[in-house]
Amino acid sequence: MRKEKDKIKIIALGGLNEIGKNITAIEFKDEIVVIDCGLKFPDEEMFGIDIVIPDVSYLVKNIEKVKGIFLTHGHEDHIGALPYVLKELNVPVYGTKLTLGILESKLKEHGLLGKVTLNCVKPKDIIKLDVMSVEFIRTSHSIADSTAIAVHTSLGVILHTGDFKIDYTPIDGCLADFARFAELGKRGVLLMLCDSTNVERPGYTMSESTVGVTFQNLFAKAEGRIIVATFASNVHRIQQIVTASEKYGRKVAVSGRSMENIVAVATEYGYLKSNEGTMIGVDAINRYPNDKVTIITTGTQGEPMSALTRMAASEHKKVNIIDGDMVVISASPIPGNEKLVSRVINQLFKKGAQVIYEALADVHVSGHACQEELKLMHTLVKPRFFMPVHGEYRHLKQHSELAEGLGMAKAIY
Ligand SMILES: [Zn+2]
Ligand SMILES: [Zn+2]
Repeated sequence: MRKEKDKIKIIALGGLNEIGKNITAIEFKDEIVVIDCGLKFPDEEMFGIDIVIPDVSYLVKNIEKVKGIFLTHGHEDHIGALPYVLKELNVPVYGTKLTLGILESKLKEHGLLGKVTLNCVKPKDIIKLDVMSVEFIRTSHSIADSTAIAVHTSLGVILHTGDFKIDYTPIDGCLADFARFAELGKRGVLLMLCDSTNVERPGYTMSESTVGVTFQNLFAKAEGRIIVATFASNVHRIQQIVTASEKYGRKVAVSGRSMENIVAVATEYGYLKSNEGTMIGVDAINRYPNDKVTIITTGTQGEPMSALTRMAASEHKKVNIIDGDMVVISASPIPGNEKLVSRVINQLFKKGAQVIYEALADVHVSGHACQEELKLMHTLVKPRFFMPVHGEYRHLKQHSELAEGLGMAKAIY
């Protein structure tokens, strides 16, 4: 029997049986490594609640053991709780450049910039702690600069995939580090924690670059303004909209606070590239002919206060939908938001816009691995133990069945 101190504890403080507020603590001897620290948006029944953050009282109680919070990528469900949690748990934060860039703008809003130690890492970096070391491994996802994290201990490697998909033609040309996953698998991985979001979907998630082909086809036909709504954090999607706009001589304006923030950060750090003069302020759109203007905006979920919803309701101060506009909704409605999205689409059609959404054209792909991609990850890593994460119970259950289908023995409690 191992001594209590020599056991590795995996403490899921969020992200299991739910989509959102991902945070996992790995405790070994006198060290705790925390992976991600996300928020969750409230369910419909949570009246008066804006965001849900994880309960970190265990970490606060053991703060002297907590060596840092290690971030897989810059999505809200992975970094969104940090401005709140760091107030109680001020420990060093590690992440890649874009992830920290997005975090910095959040910390600024909360007056925390300069009060927290942010350590910028690159894929392949290994942070050596006293008893554990933490390695960042490049993956593909719907945000640039995403990573998996391998925690090395004397008892074995714990691999957390983070959110991922397999994309052989990523927009930035940075392929996931398949070789490293295979190498770890060859040497032996004690435990893998793996993204379960799309486990219900057979087959493969299409490459992000396929959306670019659709954009090019749509942009070739558009005769008026093009307004594209997408998730602000999907820098690769935004890049493809900018590239298609440049091809057809369009200027690009950005509307919506989160979109403006991320475009500024991504441009500053070199993740978003545009020709001199392509980007214009939204105030300047009327200086150009309609067929020379693209507007990138937020509001893919029909959120009442978002830019697209306000445009559709004629409540936006600077952009009014007019006959001949092409509006592209480049996202899927998150379950529960379908009615809101549908309402916005109806309003846009009534205003005379041509509306293109997922049901009509391939204007969106997921950032998460479907069944065949998950099987590839399992096969490369060949973990001794497996823990499905990032999903509701049904996802976790089906992911465990997928692992069993690949020959893994069922856990016996
Ligand atoms: Zn994500
Ligand atoms: Zn996520």
